[in-house]
Amino acid sequence: MHELSLAQSLLDMVVQVARSNQAARIAKIGISMGAFTHVAPDSLIFCFDLVKEDTEAAQAVLEIKKVPVSGRCLDCKKEISFSEPVFTCPYCSSDRVEVDKGQELMVDYIEVDEAPS
Ligand SMILES: [Zn+2]
Repeated sequence: MHELSLAQSLLDMVVQVARSNQAARIAKIGISMGAFTHVAPDSLIFCFDLVKEDTEAAQAVLEIKKVPVSGRCLDCKKEISFSEPVFTCPYCSSDRVEVDKGQELMVDYIEVDEAPS
């Protein structure tokens, strides 16, 4: 199940950040997902809730934002942002467009509670 492994790697990442900042608890995590990511936000949240048990992120709220995917037109060289999987240049109608990869999931911010001193 794709969402589960995604949730697990997200958890590993935020727990590591929390530990390196001596944070006792993660309050909130904000992530951006590329508009065409084949991950349903609801099931990612569901999976995250499963894996976060007994970690610093046990109380963490996951906020997911869908963001447009950027790319460019190979003919008119304009930068384009795609919010739907329609790969045609809005400027010159060319279908020779290049879409940036690697925007599946990005962590925007992590809010932590300070460790009691
Ligand atoms: Zn174009």
